[in-house]
Amino acid sequence: MNSGHRVRIIEARKNYGSLAALDGLSLDIKAGQFTVLLGPSGSGKSTLIRSLAGIEKLDTGSIYFGDQEVNRGPINLAPEKRNLAMVFQDYALWPHLTAFENVGYALKRRKLVPESFNMLIISALERVGLASKGSNYPHQLSGGEQQRVALARAIVANPALLLFDEPLSNLDADLRERLRIEISTLTREIGASALYITHDQSEAFALADQIGVINKGSIEQIDAPEVIYNQPATRFVATFTGTSGIFTGTVKSISKKSCVVSLGKDELTARHTVDLHIGQEVDLLVRPAATRFTTHEDNRIASTITDIAYRGRGYEHAIETKYGSLTGVFDTISHPRGRKMEVSIDPEKCIAFPRESK
Ligand code: ADP
Repeated sequence: MNSGHRVRIIEARKNYGSLAALDGLSLDIKAGQFTVLLGPSGSGKSTLIRSLAGIEKLDTGSIYFGDQEVNRGPINLAPEKRNLAMVFQDYALWPHLTAFENVGYALKRRKLVPESFNMLIISALERVGLASKGSNYPHQLSGGEQQRVALARAIVANPALLLFDEPLSNLDADLRERLRIEISTLTREIGASALYITHDQSEAFALADQIGVINKGSIEQIDAPEVIYNQPATRFVATFTGTSGIFTGTVKSISKKSCVVSLGKDELTARHTVDLHIGQEVDLLVRPAATRFTTHEDNRIASTITDIAYRGRGYEHAIETKYGSLTGVFDTISHPRGRKMEVSIDPEKCIAFPRESK
């Protein structure tokens, strides 16, 4: 068991021409913490992770690992001196080396006697379930196995920080789920701190101790997954972490945390995490888990079923209402297209934000 780096990124800026890839981004990762940075393509995730790895240099700002400043101005600690390892989306294995040799490559700089060298490699391959495939070359391994070799290579030297750059994107859904669990377990077992970047919200929620939602080179909110989901600080955070639809209305009344929003003839109670005022035009962001077909709960509107998708545990319906459509309305039974249904919307999972001009 290792003690992971505490990582502090302070006011990081990186420009490519006039474009700010990192726009004054700050982030703190505690020792041993698993942090996921979630954001759309182009939001600056790779630039940040590459700066941590030492492949990219910040224009201004600092990066600290513990008390050691690794990047600021002329200070730029070489990647191999940072005690970290990275797992890439495309595995980045040497095609001419076997799985065993690929894993061993990460130990090259260590002054180890050959027996302990071999033992470490075998143990890393065992931990990812590939003990019997050490002599295979990458082209003799499946995509999932290649990523496991990359994972073994990342952990073999027991680094203090693991960086993951969308490592599951090239894998099938079922394999993605299994490898996600392995990444989560192994990282926590070795005690390393981790920064994992992804645009996939379900991956982020499943893996993270804390999620940072990144947009245009800065972090809009960083919190535990539950807080990000239940109290999104901005409209961007709310939409990027999953909505089944958005209704537009006007604030009719307001209390500290909740408000009543008029939508034409109907009214819906919702929560708000930012200040609103009576008469303000708002967008109601409805979380997928907020909706339920029922005829007796409050906060209800009329709808018509437009589509049904079977999901194993039950059915997800798309519905049309007078105020717009919603997807992912779950029921254990299926309702046919065209059927009229009342749908209730849990006010705790429906969040009002000031309307954004399009
Ligand atoms: P993400 O990983 O979130 O997709 P990136 O960090 O790759 O985002 O990119 C952030 C922004 O910086 C994007 O607009 C991208 O086009 C730009 N960018 C990244 N690398 C370079 C580069 N080497 N030269 C010019 N622009 C770049």
